[in-house]
Amino acid sequence: MRKIGIMGGTFDPIHTGHLMLAEWAADKAGLEQVWLIPTGLSYLKANRDILPGEERLHMAKLAVEGNERLRCMDLEIRREGFTYSYETMELLGQRYPQDRFYFIVGADCLAGLENWKCPERLLASCTLLAAVRGEHSMDELEQRRRRLLERFGGDIRLMSFPQLELSSTEIRERLRRGESVRYMVPEKVLAYIQERGFYHEKKECEAFHEEVEEGHP
Ligand code: ATP
Ligand code: MG
Repeated sequence: MRKIGIMGGTFDPIHTGHLMLAEWAADKAGLEQVWLIPTGLSYLKANRDILPGEERLHMAKLAVEGNERLRCMDLEIRREGFTYSYETMELLGQRYPQDRFYFIVGADCLAGLENWKCPERLLASCTLLAAVRGEHSMDELEQRRRRLLERFGGDIRLMSFPQLELSSTEIRERLRRGESVRYMVPEKVLAYIQERGFYHEKKECEAFHEEVEEGHP
């Protein structure tokens, strides 16, 4: 039996916080591998433009190159429509019946877990490993953990994690403003972002578009 960690995320783009969390969880829970699974269409982020799944997966692959413990999977980006974590975990359970799965999340996710689709099915299919960062107290989260267990059952574990003021949102905004994100994302990911011009101000593009449209009504 292998112990496998699963990290879902938009990864738009993947950053050092995600990678550190995967490594941290692997050590804490004794995981053989952690699989990073970029989300397909997430109903939680449906109203924001996100890069196509293939691009987010490609950046994740670049990020884990050379690290045998981290893998990427295209399971969710290949699925049509919205994807839900419980479906992914149930699918993995069916596909890899010998393995035990640990779903790794930031503890901020615990607050919203009641509103996820079928939390009881998610918790039945894996252990939930929640990384507690500085902004929440362990006590508060411990209470929340108990309440969730009473309501849905399962296995939820809290692990402390250093607080990094780092998010994909912050990275996209910095890039938009022309600021450095060096060391916030792995070098290869940054090179790819720059090569493709991702997350830049769209002004020039739009202006170009308008000209073309005016020229060819
Ligand atoms: P966005 O800003 O677009 O929401 P994000 O940085 O929060 O992006 P996601 O892809 O939404 O990244 O998150 C994937 C997982 O990584 C979530 O479980 C989230 O809690 C966790 N995570 C994101 N940033 C950090 C961080 N700095 N430290 C620890 N966990 C993090
Ligand atoms: Mg987020």
